[in-house]
Amino acid sequence: MLGSELQTVEQVRALRDARRTDGTNVFVIVRAILSAMRMTAMNLFRKPVTVHYPEKPRTYPDRYRGLLALVYEKDTEEEACIGCRLCEMVCPPAVIKVEMLKGEKRNYAKTFTLELYACEFCELCVQVCPTDAIVMMKSFDLATADRRELLLDKDRLHAIGLQHEQSWATGNKLRDMQGPPKMARTEHAAKEETPA
Ligand code: SF4
Ligand code: SF4
Repeated sequence: MLGSELQTVEQVRALRDARRTDGTNVFVIVRAILSAMRMTAMNLFRKPVTVHYPEKPRTYPDRYRGLLALVYEKDTEEEACIGCRLCEMVCPPAVIKVEMLKGEKRNYAKTFTLELYACEFCELCVQVCPTDAIVMMKSFDLATADRRELLLDKDRLHAIGLQHEQSWATGNKLRDMQGPPKMARTEHAAKEETPA
């Protein structure tokens, strides 16, 4: 008799605990639904962040580094590349090939090819260029399903240079950042020239 009474008490407790747990679960579910609905309602009135590219062009930060290009000299409008092949030698995946054309006053690139599909966008070619001829653009607008279109020759590289806005960096600017400030260098040179 005592045993069956104990069994009943335990059953009642178990039933009460189960009800409590169910109540907690319902509360958690309702709270989650309300929270999700609140988030949905908030986002209904938020400004969309999607940019309808390419109809609407994106604004890139000044230091954005995208497509590579060749540029012309500003004063003479000649090709800035002197065919020195420094970019070819520094390029880690070896995607640049340059042939030099010797000229009377200066040299040129006879051919210049860049396999953009294998480029790492490391910017080393830009950093070593003595004439700021190879630069990066504030655009990536060359997406294609055909890799052959990303084998860029000299003419296409110059066309990209004219088509897009140039990124902040040039070889000379980047090299200046790596050395001591110019003022410090001038002061140092003056000290060395001053007789003891
Ligand atoms: S960004 Fe780097 S990988 Fe690309 S062409 Fe220049 S050096 Fe080569
Ligand atoms: S792009 Fe610059 S580093 Fe490359 S070959 Fe021309 S001048 Fe030399």
